[in-house]
Amino acid sequence: MENTEKTGRVVKVSGPLITASGMADVHMYDVVRVGKDRLIGEIIELRGDVASIQVYEDTAGIGAGAPVYLTNMPLSAELGPGMVESMFDGIERPLDVLFSLYGDRIRRGASVPSLDRNKKWHFTPVAKVGDNVKGGDILGTVQETEAVLHKIMVPPNESGTLMNIREGDFTVDSTVAVIMNEQGEEKPLTMIQYWPVRRGRPCAEKLSPQEPMVTGQRIIDTLFPIARGGVAAVPGPFGSGKTVVQHQLAKWADADIVIYIGCGERGNEMTDVMNEFPEIIDPKTGKSLMKRTVLIANTSDMPVAAREASIYTGITIAEYFRDMGYKVAIIADSTSRWAEALREMSGRLEEMPGEEGYPAYLSSRLAEFYERAGIVKCLGSDDRTGAVTAIGAVSPPGGDTSEPVSQATLRIVKVFWGLSSELAYKRHFPAIDWLKSYSLYEPKLQEHYRKTISPEWPALVARTKVMLQEEAELNEIVQLVGIDSLSAGDRLTLAAAQMIREDYLQQDAYDSADSFTSPRKMFLMLGTILGWYEAGKNALAVGVPFDAIEKMPVCEKIARMKFIDEGEREDTFAQIGADIDEQFTKLMEEAVTDE
Ligand code: ADP
Repeated sequence: MENTEKTGRVVKVSGPLITASGMADVHMYDVVRVGKDRLIGEIIELRGDVASIQVYEDTAGIGAGAPVYLTNMPLSAELGPGMVESMFDGIERPLDVLFSLYGDRIRRGASVPSLDRNKKWHFTPVAKVGDNVKGGDILGTVQETEAVLHKIMVPPNESGTLMNIREGDFTVDSTVAVIMNEQGEEKPLTMIQYWPVRRGRPCAEKLSPQEPMVTGQRIIDTLFPIARGGVAAVPGPFGSGKTVVQHQLAKWADADIVIYIGCGERGNEMTDVMNEFPEIIDPKTGKSLMKRTVLIANTSDMPVAAREASIYTGITIAEYFRDMGYKVAIIADSTSRWAEALREMSGRLEEMPGEEGYPAYLSSRLAEFYERAGIVKCLGSDDRTGAVTAIGAVSPPGGDTSEPVSQATLRIVKVFWGLSSELAYKRHFPAIDWLKSYSLYEPKLQEHYRKTISPEWPALVARTKVMLQEEAELNEIVQLVGIDSLSAGDRLTLAAAQMIREDYLQQDAYDSADSFTSPRKMFLMLGTILGWYEAGKNALAVGVPFDAIEKMPVCEKIARMKFIDEGEREDTFAQIGADIDEQFTKLMEEAVTDE
């Protein structure tokens, strides 16, 4: 497709930024190939016939006068079977193929197709000859992995009458169907689609997020829930457990497909991700999580500019699976590194710098990414919905969220899970700070849980929040005047708040029983703690000493609730409830007789 006739000339090279003249025929965000090695670049600024090109590879050796080949094509993702289980770089080149062809040092200008051209997939038609099909309609399916049924769709801009469709084992670029469009032209369709990464894929209708994306993480689902199709940010300093939170979400969140973008953390960290991810076992299938994951990773030898592309490549792939009617979770780690790439390019373009040197368009770029998340009615004749839920990690230097990337992110996202190094230091994991975090979806989602779990759910959550708040206030008093100055009632509140923190909010990612909790078990756990607290207040009122309440044998059982097997939860929680009643009755009887 490259048009080698049309070329421009390099005028100036500044690291990953190249200026070229003779570029009157190009468009913004067109892909060009630079120099004799044909390095991959993208046009990011146009002034007359002079273009600024962001080059995704090392530009050493390129000098003024070198040719710039025009492709007249925007940077596009290649979409089709073979993406799941793959690891791509920021411009969707498969890393394993690059490594096997070129070894550790990827040859510059390496051009390999994103999808394997030799592998055959079994295509099973769903549509029939004679059907009138339009963009988004499902032509057939391919079992891509044990966990993913890939739906081969009519590309968004195509429609017509299905003239031919065949079942069999085909490579991605073979024709599997032929349609005749309104102009009477026959159009062969393969299993590949192309889509320009900087443009959102179309949908029939954007819906408003109503349901939670259950994550099985108690603090998240209870206090700061995320909606399916929602957007969240996890800022956290180094060592605060950001990676573990992301892995837990990838593993347990109710999503069919996980897209993980590692935008250029330091080289070795990325290697960790590439080694770690395949080892994560998917609780749904018992196999590697990669069976429903697409990894996008920037290797250390790719320049920062490639980070910028990785976000767009990732979200485009996410939308493509959304269009099949799937629930997709996309995790970007970290958007701070991505913003740094923007800053570097902006500096080289000599744009007017905004806060801390970031370009003035930092927030609008971040918004463009997050806005592509959402729950939608998909294109196509059947009534399917799909969702992209986006979670961005932010790594503010020194954990200080007043810096521009965190601030810009906070203005966009609706959920904020703020990780605290203080909690991590105390080994309270997940170290999500309940006093700083929030979810704007909460009222809507509580309503959903009220219907699906229990009418009491919203009240339980509200009381939990009040108690955590009260604990913080009481702790301030304790620090000033000591614990002895507190009334028995306040000490009971502190004890119950401690239960909430230690026996409910703390969750061990590495314990098989504790790693995931169903919403129903969350309800039983919270109900038990608050039930104990209410009974405790009644007991204090009739003269039971606080010490006796604190030492009740059932407290031991409450501390171990999190390890209760989901299969045995109803009976076990009923038993704990009975123990609470029985032990309080006994204490109250003793208190009355003592009088
Ligand atoms: P970061 O990515 O923020 O630097 P990590 O995610 O690697 O931090 O977490 C650091 C350590 O904290 C982990 O190695 C682990 O020991 C502990 N940790 C974090 N979250 C949890 C959790 N939910 N359960 C148990 N341990 C955790």
